[in-house]
Amino acid sequence: MRKQIAAANWKMNLSLQQAEELIKALIESNITLGENQLALFGVPFPYILPIKQLLDGKQNLFVTAQNCSANANGAFTGETSAEMLQSIGLKYVIIGHSERREYNYETSAELAKKVNLALDHKLQPVFCCGEALTVREADEQNEYVKVQLMESLFHLEAGQMKNFIIAYEPIWAIGTGKTASSEQAQEMHAHIRSVMASQYGKDIADSISILYGGSVKAANAAEIFGKPDVDGGLVGGASLVATEFAAIIKALK
Ligand code: PEP
Repeated sequence: MRKQIAAANWKMNLSLQQAEELIKALIESNITLGENQLALFGVPFPYILPIKQLLDGKQNLFVTAQNCSANANGAFTGETSAEMLQSIGLKYVIIGHSERREYNYETSAELAKKVNLALDHKLQPVFCCGEALTVREADEQNEYVKVQLMESLFHLEAGQMKNFIIAYEPIWAIGTGKTASSEQAQEMHAHIRSVMASQYGKDIADSISILYGGSVKAANAAEIFGKPDVDGGLVGGASLVATEFAAIIKALK
């Protein structure tokens, strides 16, 4: 069975002290994760090591970076390479979040480079895709997301796609309090799985964890995660509150 994942995306929030308190509160809330379940914490770069230290040895709880550079190394002031993340023992990196696509003008071609560098350095990408409201209103979301996947992932070999992680995040649902219905999420997730199956075959497509992101909270997680092609969530706002995120983890299949 593919992994069921609750991934927190803290974005640019919290002081180190608040971050440590949040993680300690979560650990104290005694969340037990099954063999097939993971919780990832997408923390700001300066907190990766201290938060990782708090999580080391805790079953199925891992830190993830929120981004990595599209360049291997060199004169790129302010950037962080996949190699650096590997060197501090990280296993995951979020790539292609819609906020980075929008505010940092990240293109599909650049994201393909980041995916390659991540995989070269044994980091599992959490690859984000998803359409803006105008695309959804024009009913072009399926083609739009398909192109995002083709342009940034389809150069990979089947072996690299096994157990891959994709996060579908409709931009109109991120941070807006407006969640896609569980039916809309299921419909898109099934579409993503069929797009991946057409390129890599059904077995590989069935091994891919497809997370839903967009105003997931304790109150709606179980219904969304209950859909057959939804394998958990990428969670922004609600991941900053220990009781909320603990309940979201408990809602995993
Ligand atoms: C996100 O940033 O990936 C996200 C889904 O945010 P929120 O849960 O706040 O909508």
